[in-house]
Parts: sequence; C-alpha cells; structure tokens
Amino acid sequence: MTARVHRTALLAGIFAILGLVACGHSSSTADAQGARAAFPPAPPASATGGFDGERAYKQVEALTAIGPHSAGSEGIHRAQAYIIAQLKSFGCPVDEEDFHVPSTPVGDVAMKNIVVKIPSSNPNIILYASHYDTKRIPNFVGADDGGSSTGVLLELARVLCARKNTQTIWLAFFDGEEAFNMQWADPDNTYGSRQMAATLALSGELPRVKAMVLVDMVGPANPVYKRESNSTPWLTDIIWSTAARLGYGNVFVNDRTTIEDDHLSFLSRGVPATDIIDLDVPYWHTTRDTIDKIDPRTLAITGHVLLASLPEIEKKIQ
Ligand SMILES: [Zn+2]
Repeated sequence: MTARVHRTALLAGIFAILGLVACGHSSSTADAQGARAAFPPAPPASATGGFDGERAYKQVEALTAIGPHSAGSEGIHRAQAYIIAQLKSFGCPVDEEDFHVPSTPVGDVAMKNIVVKIPSSNPNIILYASHYDTKRIPNFVGADDGGSSTGVLLELARVLCARKNTQTIWLAFFDGEEAFNMQWADPDNTYGSRQMAATLALSGELPRVKAMVLVDMVGPANPVYKRESNSTPWLTDIIWSTAARLGYGNVFVNDRTTIEDDHLSFLSRGVPATDIIDLDVPYWHTTRDTIDKIDPRTLAITGHVLLASLPEIEKKIQ
C-alpha cells in the first residue's frame, strides 16, 4: 500500500513517522525474528475451495525472511528469485517483464514485474495482482504490506496453474508499488502496475483484460475489507456478494473507503478493477509489520473468496 485519499491519509502518515521515531528499531527486531503468533491454523484446503491457507502463510513467512526488499534494493533480487522459483515449481508459465524508471526520487531504478499467463482458448483475460516490493523504510519487512497478498497470489497460482480454466487468467506480481518517498504523492508510486497497463495498451492487448482484482494487505487477524469507492461496482459486488454467501459478511463489509493503489493504473485506462485491502492496521508502514501479525485464517478466507468468485466473474464477462 497505498494511500487513502482523504485527510486520514495524512494523519496515518504522520502517525507512521511518529511511530518510527518513537519506537526506533529496537522493539521491532524481536518481532521481525519472532515466531508465529498464537493464531489457530487455517481451515483445510478442502474447506476453502482448494486454497491452502497454511501454504499461503508459509509463502509470507519465506518472503518476510528475505528481509527488506524495496524496489531497486539488493533484497528485491532475492524476492524475485524466490517468487519465480515458486511459480515454476507449480508449473506456471512465467514472464519476467524488466523495465527502468529513469526519474524516481532515488534516481534510475531497474524494476521487474513477474507475470503468470495461464492460457486458454478464450481471449478474455482475468487479471489477479499484488505488489511484492516493500516500503523503503530501514528494517521494514512488510509481512502484511507486500507479503500477505504475494503469499495469497502464489497459492492462487499453485491452484490455477494446475487446472484447466475456462478463460485466460493472468497473475501479476508488481514491483514498485510503494512510494520511494515516505509520503505518497504522484507519480512516485505504482510504477509496476502503470508500466504493465501502459505496455498492454501499446500492444493492443489491454481491451482483453475484462477484470482486474487486486489484493494488498490481506493478512491481519479480524480483517475488515471495505468496498473501495474508486473500484468498478459490478466487480466489487460479485466479490463481496460471494463472500457474504460463504459466510464472510463480517470480513467483506458494506462500509466504503477510498484508497489509491495499483488498481487505479488499470481503472484509469478503462479496465474494470477492484481492490481487496485492510489498511486499518496499527503497524502500517512501521517495522512492526512482521510475520507475527499474519493470521493464516485471513489468507485462507481471502483465497477462498477469490476462487469462489471466479466463476461469477467469468459468467459476467463472457
Ligand atoms: Zn505500503
């Protein structure tokens, strides 16, 4: 993540900075190396449409163990190698889309989007996405912000690459979502998603993308996903009503929020898109965003809803 458009974004930013100043690095180091928190295990994959919350949790654990991996950092190469190796081990076709951003606040930065393109005879594309870079804060490992959604997307890839799908499914792992500066201000954010949307527009493929579902910060205990008001209503409706049907109405709630995130890169080009995110966590953009904050049940619920809503999305766009 990611910015909220109203005044609370500024407040959150100030609190994040104050939190950093107040806590320093000492209290969080123990967290960062801390063992798994005392959450019960995720429900089995047989109860969540084949999505294994424990596997997703292990992915978040591995990504967090890599350490800080902000765009252009040394650590991000390890994150890239890990994600690509996992995807290949699932039998997924993997595209590495390398690009340079010449004018970030820290100068020229090489970035890489990692994209799985699961083919089908249907030209329609449903795109799932997450960012995998972490915020450029010393010792920040981004278990929830960057890790949780990447873990969910990796587990989703494991399930989807192993089966035949009725429509073409892409899974994009974006680099450079986070602003290099502490504050979120355009154009210093969403580098990877803007690159992918622009490239697809140039190649003429963008109109094939009929739906883009973004996940970001999907790991906390007792999650609350509000309907994001920039998002495409029909797509949000499908996902939120699927969640309600599965008994997750207390997680996917009908309150609204406004958030700037990677989905805007596609929305602004006319692609229907939505964002599943719980930004209301006290450790956001602090070094307390560590693996002990991640509840495997939240990953399982999120993955279950993604898989269960896919047939509804396919019906809508066919
Ligand atoms: Zn963030």
